[in-house]
Amino acid sequence: RKLGIALVGLGGYAKNQLAPALQQTQHVRLAGIVTGTPAKAEEWMAKYNIPKANVYDYKTFDRIIDNKDIDVVYVVLPNSMHAEYVIRAAKAGKHVICEKPMAITVKDCQDMIDACKKANVQLAIGYRLHYEPFTQEMMRLGREKVFGNLKFLEASDGFKAGDPNQWRLKKAMAGGGPMMDVGIYAIQGVRLVTGLEPLSVTAQFAPKTDPQKFKDVEETMYWQFEFPNGITSTSTTSYAAGVERLYASAENGWFELRPAYGYGPLKGMTSKGPIDKPVVNHQAMHMDGICKDLIDGKQLPKHITGEEGMQDVKIIQATYQAAETGRKIKI
Ligand code: NAD
Repeated sequence: RKLGIALVGLGGYAKNQLAPALQQTQHVRLAGIVTGTPAKAEEWMAKYNIPKANVYDYKTFDRIIDNKDIDVVYVVLPNSMHAEYVIRAAKAGKHVICEKPMAITVKDCQDMIDACKKANVQLAIGYRLHYEPFTQEMMRLGREKVFGNLKFLEASDGFKAGDPNQWRLKKAMAGGGPMMDVGIYAIQGVRLVTGLEPLSVTAQFAPKTDPQKFKDVEETMYWQFEFPNGITSTSTTSYAAGVERLYASAENGWFELRPAYGYGPLKGMTSKGPIDKPVVNHQAMHMDGICKDLIDGKQLPKHITGEEGMQDVKIIQATYQAAETGRKIKI
């Protein structure tokens, strides 16, 4: 049987990526929606054949506890709202997928993990790239030392943020700027390829070129990690202009993805030639991978769990602290 999933928050990612992906999934189907906008509810019910009984707003959401059609709740709200809705979903006895970044504080992450444990439900983060073949190959090349011991990595993710009024530019809702939004992919990238945790971080904020638009959050920032075995990494994240790259240099060669984090197709190259892997729908692979494990009663893979999401939030907080203090911060 296919599990039933309910999407909470019908914004850009839910509408343009998750709902279309759910038309391709084998182990999960779009069964319900949670939205504060009645017009969106009508539109989605008609388009995806969703019964009225499976439509909730933010007030009625907790009644989902009584809905046998819904096995999994997928929280696709602004970052500051993740914690509340993950905890409410857990209390309703539903497995939860939560978008990245998991939350805007480490304490929220811990509360989310605790709530899911207490309710005996599983918690997954929206780390779609863990199921993506080019990314998996980068992990293999790094962890199996195919080009010898790793020396240094360069991992950056940024784009030009448009609308000056969007929640992504408000610290209270986003938790920070591009670091919270896409810098997290660069952090994931270097952790995935090395299979190691950064020991310390130094970081710098670039001068703001549009101080009005970026009055609340950073516009561009840089950071550097030190890993065990002398491995280092350097990264940029930005809302001013685009960058999207994951590069690793090792004793006997190099390997990279560029683009590395978008919805695909991703493109990979090594010092020995191109990386040739199938192009997949990231969101379909991610939701199917999670739901297959849930159906089989398995523990979800460690690298997409709440603990993994919390580790990234911890690293992000240390990186902000490093940029604010100008000091090297131990992680
Ligand atoms: P969005 O702005 O397009 O959608 C946000 C949704 O939340 C909207 O439907 C909005 O109506 C709703 N919402 C409810 N209460 C709100 C409030 N108080 N203020 C603002 N919006 C409110 O954002 P999005 O791009 O869909 O991002 C949603 C989440 O998904 C974020 O956490 C983001 O980081 C994540 N995301 C992940 C990926 C990925 O590739 N994994 C891609 C895009 C977004």
